[in-house]
Amino acid sequence: MDNFDNEMRLAFQAKSCNEALARMTVAAFLTPLNPTLEELADTKTAVSEAVTNAIIHGYGESEGTVEVWCARRGKEVFFSIKDTGAGIPDIAAAMEPMYTTKPEMERSGMGFSFMEAFTDELSVESAVGEGTVVKMKKVIG
Ligand code: ATP
Ligand code: MG
Repeated sequence: MDNFDNEMRLAFQAKSCNEALARMTVAAFLTPLNPTLEELADTKTAVSEAVTNAIIHGYGESEGTVEVWCARRGKEVFFSIKDTGAGIPDIAAAMEPMYTTKPEMERSGMGFSFMEAFTDELSVESAVGEGTVVKMKKVIG
C-alpha cells in the first residue's frame, strides 16, 4: 500500500509564522512534479487553510504541534495535516460553506470550501478533546 515515490513529514509549533513554512515546504515537495502555477497555488492554499485551522481552532491560545505529511505516488500527491487540539464536534456542519465558530475574528468560514475546491479529495477525521486530521489528495498534471 505504502509504495510511495517520495514522502516527507514536518512538525512545527502551532504559531501563525509557521504557515509560510508549511506553504513553502509543500511547494518544494511538489517541484519535481512540474506543477502549473495554478496547481501550485491551489495546493499551497489548501494546505495552508488546514494549517491555519489547526493553529487557530485546534489550539487557539494553547501550545501544540502541527504535523504535515506529504507523500507522492506518480501524479497523485497525498497530504495530511494533524493537530491534537480541540477537535470538531460536528464535522458535517463545520464543512458547510460560511460556517465558522470564530466570526468575531473575521473568519469567513470558507476554509473547508477552499480545500474542497482546490484539491481532488478531502476527508476530515476529528474527535472532541483529541484533535483533527485533514487528508487531501491532489493530482498534478
Ligand atoms: P476561514 O477559514 O474562512 O478563515 P473558518 O476557519 O472559521 O474561517 P473553516 O476553515 O471552513 O472556516 O472551518 C470551519 C469551522 O470548523 C471553524 O470555524 C472551526 O469551528 C472548525 N474547525 C476547522 N478546523 C478545525 C480544527 N483543526 N480544530 C478544531 N476546529 C476546527
Ligand atoms: Mg479556516
